[in-house]
Order: sequence, then structure tokens, then C-alpha cells
Amino acid sequence: MKRLLTAVLTALAMLTAACGGTAERAEIVVTTDLLGDLTRAVVGDAAPVTVLMPTGGDPHSFGVSAKQAAGLERAALIVANGLGLEEGVLRHVESAAAAGTPALLVGERIGPLPYRDSGNPDPHFWTDPARVRTAVEAIRDRVLADVPGIDAATVRTRTDAYLTRLDELDRWMTERFAALPADRRALVTNHHVFGYLAARFGLEVVGVVLPSGSALASPSAADLAGLAGAVRAAGVTTIFADSSQPDRLARVLAEQAGVEVRVTALHTESLTPPDGGAPTYLDMMRANTDAIVAG
Ligand SMILES: [Zn+2]
Repeated sequence: MKRLLTAVLTALAMLTAACGGTAERAEIVVTTDLLGDLTRAVVGDAAPVTVLMPTGGDPHSFGVSAKQAAGLERAALIVANGLGLEEGVLRHVESAAAAGTPALLVGERIGPLPYRDSGNPDPHFWTDPARVRTAVEAIRDRVLADVPGIDAATVRTRTDAYLTRLDELDRWMTERFAALPADRRALVTNHHVFGYLAARFGLEVVGVVLPSGSALASPSAADLAGLAGAVRAAGVTTIFADSSQPDRLARVLAEQAGVEVRVTALHTESLTPPDGGAPTYLDMMRANTDAIVAG
């Protein structure tokens, strides 16, 4: 009797798995927590959203499990940053897309800027809220096109409400940065994340502690010495380091520059838990703008 029961349960489990395999694709799978926040703002409860990167993780270096990679293949839609950001994950996104899963590489839709040193496209577009507006519209359009049975009216209403909040953020940031004097607009950061913000709001990135736009690279002593000179020449008073990264290098630079330089933590690459100061994109940008203007 027990053996029969086991056989029946096994058969049921196989049947369920088979149904799951052929079921309509419903889930939206997003690579980074930041894009997850934007995607959830657009869809709300209208479709399940799974974010692969852990909250507060490093988008350059996080990886996915075999199970998560398989989930990419079954998604209704994949939303990824692209432009080389998710170094550990983009090949899985590309293979899922090649196998027929709809995929949106948001970075390719926002008018990418090149890195100043390498000329490669800079993936950190989210520091410009106007480009995030374009990204949200692109996510909305692909959700409506690719997620079966989605409630289109809900998605449109939610997106319009979020775009209004983005426009408010944009106006507020414009006012805050416009108030900075012309000789206090030089920016030094731990890692090259503010190219878009600088271009948009008229700041100058005079130096980056970690070269080549990757959080994975390490600077040489000569890189640091050169940057220390630039910091002195521009009269920089604050160096900004990402809150998720050790700021040791930024402190070494402050010592090498031989001037009094503060190291201020910013939330640049990822969101925080609810009590961490930047649980949403809108919170993150307000916190960073306050810190930059103060520094
Ligand atoms: Zn980065």
C-alpha cells in the first residue's frame, strides 16, 4: 500500500513538473536590484518579478546559480542592464535570449555615454534620472508586449505615476546642483559611476580611484599618484566611495594627496535593505545628491 502511494505521488510530481514546463511564461526576471525596483514600480502585482542580484550586492561581480540560469530560460521577459555591467550574468542572459526568451537590455536604449579613458560604453546610466525615465518607458513597453495576460491599464497607470515622481526627482536634482558654485564642481569617486550625473548636471569627474570603470580592477601606485596630483590641483575636499565597497583605496589617496580630504559613502551600485538609507531608486538618488552637494 505504501509502495503504491509512493508510486502515485511520484507520478503526480512528474505530471506537475511537466505542466510547469509547458505552462505559459509569466515571470519577469531582472538582473540587478536597481532595475528590479524600476520594474516593480511598473508592474506592481500584475506579474511576478524575480531579482537575481542580492540586495546590496555588486552588479559587476554577482553570479547566478544553475537554477537561476534555468529560470532565465523560462521567463516571460528578462530585464538586464547590459553594456557589460553584469559581468557574471550577461552570458546567461544572451544564451536565454538566443533560445527565444524575450530580453530587454536597458542600457542599449538610453543613449549610452563612453568612458572617458577607454571609450567603452559606461553602463552606470542610472545616475541621470532623465535616462531612467527612458529606461522605465522601455520596460513598460516590453512588459506590455511580452508578458502574457498582463493588465495593461494597471501597468500604464502605475508607470505614469512613477514617471511623475521621476520628473520631480529630476527637477529637485537640477535645482540642488545648479546651486553649486562654478569652482566647487570637481568630483572624485572610488569607482567610475557618476559619468552620467556629471554630464547631465555640469560636474567634472577629475578622477576615479578604481580605473577602467570596473569595480573588479585595482589601481597601480602610479595611478594613485597621478590621481593624487589631480585632487590637489582641483582643490577637491571630499572623495566619494560606494557604501558597498571598502573605502581603503580612497583613504590611501586622501593621504597621498597630502590635503585634508573627507571620504563620504554613497549608494551608487545597489539598493539597501528598508532601513539602510537607499531602499529604492528615488531614495538612493536623493541621498546621493544631498551627500554630493554637502561634500
Ligand atoms: Zn559600477
